[in-house]
Amino acid sequence: MTNVDADVRERERVAALQRYDVLDTPPEEAFDRITRLAKSLFHPAMVTVTFLDSHRQWYKSRQGLALPDALRDTAFCNEVIRQGDTVVIEDALEDPRFATHACVAGEPHLRFFCGTPLRTRDGHAIGTLCAIDVKPRHLEPEELALFVDLAHLVMDELELRVVSSVDSLTGTLSRRTLRREAARDFLNARRQRHELSCIVFDIDHFKHINDTHGHAVGDNVLQELVSICQSNLRATDYIGRIGGEEFMIILPRTNDQAAFDVAERLRGTIERAVFNTRSGPLKITVSFGVAHSDKSVADIDALLRRADVALYGAKSAGRNRAVNFATQHLDPGLRVA
Ligand code: GH3
Ligand code: MG
Ligand code: MG
Repeated sequence: MTNVDADVRERERVAALQRYDVLDTPPEEAFDRITRLAKSLFHPAMVTVTFLDSHRQWYKSRQGLALPDALRDTAFCNEVIRQGDTVVIEDALEDPRFATHACVAGEPHLRFFCGTPLRTRDGHAIGTLCAIDVKPRHLEPEELALFVDLAHLVMDELELRVVSSVDSLTGTLSRRTLRREAARDFLNARRQRHELSCIVFDIDHFKHINDTHGHAVGDNVLQELVSICQSNLRATDYIGRIGGEEFMIILPRTNDQAAFDVAERLRGTIERAVFNTRSGPLKITVSFGVAHSDKSVADIDALLRRADVALYGAKSAGRNRAVNFATQHLDPGLRVA
């Protein structure tokens, strides 16, 4: 393959990875379950589900050994991507490609590596399922076949998300579907000279709720929060989950003042609500950013970015508040970057 071919292929590979919207998302049970299973089947020191962006490797899930910094260099996983097939290095000290690698020759003295590609349907290896150990190992063919099956499970999970239009935890639209619907409504609003507004919101200090009460309670809070929002919205408004504890509402035919009023009403309702969880009653607050599609907004992504900027303003001004992008610079209470 020429260098140009390799560059094109690599660009296509990274584009394929981006279609799954998985980079920088929080840990998820669906993937942790697979790495846990691999760990208990093969007992390596470490198992990871790794995605390879153009310049970094990023771990969606990992079990076992804390990751040595040296492994952040992508040499091992790159070999899997390059070969497009499972790579087994039974003893790295005996392998001229890796014997002098910093984390083989030095701490933590890795010896064994087994990586199998996470391959998309159109053939791109977007990441790896890896098992790593500090002693030499050998896997029997049937063990290797099981390992490859686990990599297929990872891809099945990712593919399911692409076809699923609904977030499985909260029943709101997936980020991908929300963006698609919003893009269509944005164009309609332009054509028909209507206004369209967007509210993004994010739970304040949600990490603290998870840390104190556990992930399952956090999940219940997300579900209850969504049901509060849904019972306070019009039938034409729609809500999607765009990140872990971050949601977006699209309000067709709504100007920013009306959208701001909706955000303020939701904020107050949530602040007053008591969330009944298995850990007892809980209170939360939420920050909101509001933006609308005035003429200076080029496209739907620009609108969503504005709502995000407003949300950031609400967070940095102390949380539990709604900020309107259009007027935030006029608000003396806000420290806007
Ligand atoms: P801030 O007020 O700045 O938003 O602080 P925060 O703690 O809410 O924000 P941060 O981004 O630090 O933490 C978000 C947390 O949300 C961390 C992550 O574990 C948790 N989270 C993300 N998705 C889920 C989920 O599906 N369920 C649960 N229970 N927690 C989740
Ligand atoms: Mg938050
Ligand atoms: Mg967040």
